[in-house]
Amino acid sequence: MARTGGPDDTGPTRARASAVLTIDLEAIKKNYRRLRQELRPVTCAVVVKANAYGLGVARVAPALAKAGARTFFTAQFDEALQVQSALGKTRPTADIFVLNGLAAAPIEDFNGHGLNPVLNSLGEIGAWAQAARAAGRALPAALHVDTGMNRLGLPQNELDTLAGDPGRLKGIEVRYLMSHLACADEAAHPLNAEQLLRFEKARERLPAAPASFANSSGIFLGADYHFDLARPGAALYGVNPTPDRPNPMAQVIRLQGRILQVREIDAPSTVGYGASRQVPGGSRVATVAVGYADGFLRCLSDRIKSWIGERSVPLIGRVSMDLIALDVSALPAEAARPGDFVDLIGPKQDVDALARAAGTIGYEILTSLGARYHRVYLGG
Ligand SMILES: *Cc1c(COP(=O)(O)O)cnc(C)c1O
Repeated sequence: MARTGGPDDTGPTRARASAVLTIDLEAIKKNYRRLRQELRPVTCAVVVKANAYGLGVARVAPALAKAGARTFFTAQFDEALQVQSALGKTRPTADIFVLNGLAAAPIEDFNGHGLNPVLNSLGEIGAWAQAARAAGRALPAALHVDTGMNRLGLPQNELDTLAGDPGRLKGIEVRYLMSHLACADEAAHPLNAEQLLRFEKARERLPAAPASFANSSGIFLGADYHFDLARPGAALYGVNPTPDRPNPMAQVIRLQGRILQVREIDAPSTVGYGASRQVPGGSRVATVAVGYADGFLRCLSDRIKSWIGERSVPLIGRVSMDLIALDVSALPAEAARPGDFVDLIGPKQDVDALARAAGTIGYEILTSLGARYHRVYLGG
C-alpha cells in the first residue's frame, strides 16, 4: 500500500515519488559512536558541510548532537547558519567552525552570529585580531596551517612569519591549530607521515593550543594522528574510511526507484539514447524513474546492477535525464511490475560500490543525491 509522506518526510509524497531515498539517522549516530570509540579519549567533532554531505543538515545535525557531538564544521558561512537553526533549542551552545574562513562572509557576520572562522592566512589573522581589539575581548577561531595540501591554510612562509612574531595572534583565542591530510585514505602513502611531521613542527613553533588533524580516514591511521579533536565527515555517512579493508561503518542510505513500465521486446532492438545497447527478441525491459538529473550519474550507463529483492537486474543502455532501463528478462513477470520499487543503493550495492562503477568516490555520489527523491528519515 502506498502511503503519503509523514511530517518527517520531505519532497514529493511517497505516493507520487519516482524514487525514495531513506536516510537512517540511527546509523549515522551509530557511526559517530564507532568513531568516538576509535578515538577514545580524543574528542570527535563532525563535518556537516554541503548539507551534511547531501543527506540533509536539518535532520542530521540534531541527530549527531543527540549522539553527543558538540563541535561542527561547515565549509560555507550559510551552512553554519543552517546548523545553528537546525540545532536550535537542542544545542544552543554548539561550537561551529567555518572552514572557508573569513573570506566566506563579512567579518562582522561571524561576530554577530557567534560563529568561529578557520583562519587560513596571515591576512585573516590580522583581520580577526583587529576585530578582537575593536570588540574589546578575545575572539575564538581555529588556525589552519598547510602541511601539504596546498589548498587552504597558512603556507610555509606565512607560518615562518607567524612563528617569528606570535604577537600577531594577540586577541585571538586559538581554539584549535589544525591541518588537513591529502592522502589519508591511502594508509601507506608517504605523504601521511610527512604531513604529520610538518604539523608537529608547526605546533612546536606556535603558542600552545589544542590540535586537530584527522579526517575520517585519518582516524584509522592510528593514535599519532588523533591529537585533541578529529574532524570526520564521510565515515559518519557510511563511506568506507579504510578503502583497502572492509568497511567499519554502518550503511546509512537506501535508494529505491519506481518501475513505470515493463515492455516486451519481440524482435532484436536497441534500448535508449544512442541505440548503444542491443537486446534480443524475447527480452523484457523495465523503465525506472531515476536519471542523471537526480544525481544518478550518466557514466553509470551499462555499468551497474540494481536489485529486486535478492535478484540482480542489470542496467542497460544510457542513463537519461529522468529514466534508466533495466533488463528484467531473467525474472518472472510478477517479480517486476509497474509501481514496484527496485534497489539502486542498498544492502546489495552500497555507496562505495556505485562510486567505483562510476569512477568516482562515495563523497560525490552522496553530495549528488537529487532533490526530486522522496526523502524518508529513520530515527533521529
Ligand atoms: C571535508 C573536510 C573534512 C572531513 O573529511 P572526510 O574525509 O569527509 O572525513 C575534514 N577537514 C577538512 C578541512 C575538510 O575540508
